[in-house]
Amino acid sequence: MAAPARKVLTGARVVLPSGTVDDGEVVIDGAHIGGSAPSAGQEGEAERWDLSGHWIVPGFVDLHNHGGGGASFTSGTVDDVLTGIATHRAHGTTTLVASTVTGEMDFLTARAGLLSELTEQGDLAGIHFEGPFISPCRKGAHSEALLRDPHPADVAALLDASRGAARMVTLATELPGGLDSVRLLADRGVIAAVGHTDATYEQTVEAIDAGATVATHLFNAMPPLGHRAPGPIAALLEDERVTVELINDGTHLHPAALELAFHRAGADRVAFITDAMDAAGFGDGRYLLGPLEVDVVDGVARLVEGGSIAGSTLTLDRAFRRAALVDKLPVDQIVRALSANPARLLGLDHRIGSLEPGKDADLVVLDEGFEVKGVLRHGDWVVAPQVAAAA
Ligand SMILES: [Zn+2]
Repeated sequence: MAAPARKVLTGARVVLPSGTVDDGEVVIDGAHIGGSAPSAGQEGEAERWDLSGHWIVPGFVDLHNHGGGGASFTSGTVDDVLTGIATHRAHGTTTLVASTVTGEMDFLTARAGLLSELTEQGDLAGIHFEGPFISPCRKGAHSEALLRDPHPADVAALLDASRGAARMVTLATELPGGLDSVRLLADRGVIAAVGHTDATYEQTVEAIDAGATVATHLFNAMPPLGHRAPGPIAALLEDERVTVELINDGTHLHPAALELAFHRAGADRVAFITDAMDAAGFGDGRYLLGPLEVDVVDGVARLVEGGSIAGSTLTLDRAFRRAALVDKLPVDQIVRALSANPARLLGLDHRIGSLEPGKDADLVVLDEGFEVKGVLRHGDWVVAPQVAAAA
């Protein structure tokens, strides 16, 4: 493939790590962000895009995502997974970790093989195993019959099947083998995420001390915050070592719960995720989440049996809009929760997560209402802005 042309994006409000620059300029040099505007001699080779009236923000990074575009990461073919990736990419997610759901160990090791190939190809940033090592008390949309305790040997088997592509495992750390599994994951450089858990406050503190660093969709699938039994939520929010995932779709969290978490943890310890299932970017209907049937009505996914919320139909651009327009969070803080923080958690902050020279040319162009108008990934337009490109 020929190297993408040099591009100069001008006139936009550009969100940089050092602050937002009005009438800023971003230079794209091949697949990377360039250092400065091309010199006079190079002017002619550059493709110039006037993006006045728009924002330019870093590409979004989704740590927790089960599918989209009608296709599933939990059970689909390679083509299905690529469809899901393309759907989320068009909504600004330039880096995506594919999440599984609870299944038989043989099935999950096979999934690990398929998803690790897509990781090696660069289509995915890795695999997140959500289940089977979770609590039957907080199983959410996971099949109870297939749950198991987190024996380190089983956790290791999933990591081995992933051939280095495993990035995160969600587990109920209070179960037998939980803390040993957290230590194993930390030793192997894989994120141990506390989630689908019935742990007490004290048990969660132990898990964090053992090496857990992420809260899987804080508030959802864990005991609520109680004044005598603060549970996992208080432990995860108070510890500087933990990043909390939040599903900001207006269904999973009350705006006041989101605000509580955002302000207690601070903008550097929040990661907005989708926890999306197949209906994201697609539509209402009957779907499968792993082995379980799900009905999506008005964009809300629920198990046919029992009615548990079963993932979201969120895309990260919608999470951005909601954070800006409903939650009234400052744009630079939203950008950290959507890009910089998850990039750092994945150990990819030298390449992605912010608009800095030398990093991957992954960015999103938003209009004044924070609707996606352009998506650039590795220097190529996934969605080209509908403005005149002057040669
Ligand atoms: Zn999930």
